[in-house]
Amino acid sequence: MIARMKIAFIGTGTMGGPMLANLVKKGFAVTAYDIVPAALDAAVKAGATAAKSSADAARGADLVITMLPSSSHVETVYQGKGGVLEGVAAGKLCVDMSTIDPAVSRRVAEAVRAKGVRFIDAPVSGGVPKAIDGTLAIMIGGDARDVEEARPALAAMGANIIHVGPVGAGEVAKICNNLIAGVAAVAVSEAFRIAEAFGVDHKVLTDVISKSSGNTWVMEAAHPVPGLVPRAASSRDYEGGFMTDLMAKDLGLAVNAARELRIPVVVSPAAQQVLRLASSHGLGRKDFTAIYQFLKPSSGSSPV
Ligand code: NAD
Repeated sequence: MIARMKIAFIGTGTMGGPMLANLVKKGFAVTAYDIVPAALDAAVKAGATAAKSSADAARGADLVITMLPSSSHVETVYQGKGGVLEGVAAGKLCVDMSTIDPAVSRRVAEAVRAKGVRFIDAPVSGGVPKAIDGTLAIMIGGDARDVEEARPALAAMGANIIHVGPVGAGEVAKICNNLIAGVAAVAVSEAFRIAEAFGVDHKVLTDVISKSSGNTWVMEAAHPVPGLVPRAASSRDYEGGFMTDLMAKDLGLAVNAARELRIPVVVSPAAQQVLRLASSHGLGRKDFTAIYQFLKPSSGSSPV
């Protein structure tokens, strides 16, 4: 029975935690692993069984799901000592839902294929609120039959499941999306700093822009100014959202891809540097919209 499919879930952090909880709610038998004990404890509280390593989690699983910070973590979890490849049985399917370099997805897919294991990349969009609600957008790169095999599990976590193309294509779609969201966060933050310096009310400006051509998801769902959107991370001191460091990473992936493809990019490297500066000023683990806090006006006596 599909609902009793055994799933190994590795990386039970900010996103992985609620995604795993939705799999448990839908009746999947989930074994979890995370190197951070508190993250693993939370997964057990949500109904998962704790494993001792990635290999241990993958052993006996029908489907392995990984939700890790970046490319290097994914390579380590699959190919490192005590990794997925040591535990997963031939013929099984791995689904990496992390946002990473599409070239790394392809390399990991090759490495697992050498052991008779299949791999698809399935990064997500929608942040913590949609991870909790089980309504993430999931963009997938891989073989169509593998996508269908993973679909019941993916449907427990997401509402929009889109097969983009071969392995790596899901990641390409994701980094293109985050290029837009990252740049928009800088633009919205700059705009609201200008308006407030003129004495324009934040809420009034939000009402105006929401009905105008500048409207964007960043303002509607993740407003950088605290207190305007209750579910936005800014309303919780920028906690529990999508970390500045992760957004800087995603813009870096887009900028690197553009360089390799010889496509000129101007705005995304600038946004990436704003995020990196915010990170080096202590905001790296806060939600990426905390760049609004970083973009404060200089003193009134400074020359303009
Ligand atoms: P996170 O850092 O909160 O969670 C990642 C988890 O992986 C952590 O708990 C960490 O301990 C664990 N981990 C790291 N190395 C490990 C290892 N070797 N073995 C086992 N566990 C290991 O990050 P997150 O916010 O959940 O993001 C995960 C991925 O999803 C990232 O690629 C991110 O870009 C992407 N993403 C995040 C959001 C968001 O809103 N947070 C939205 C969309 C996509």
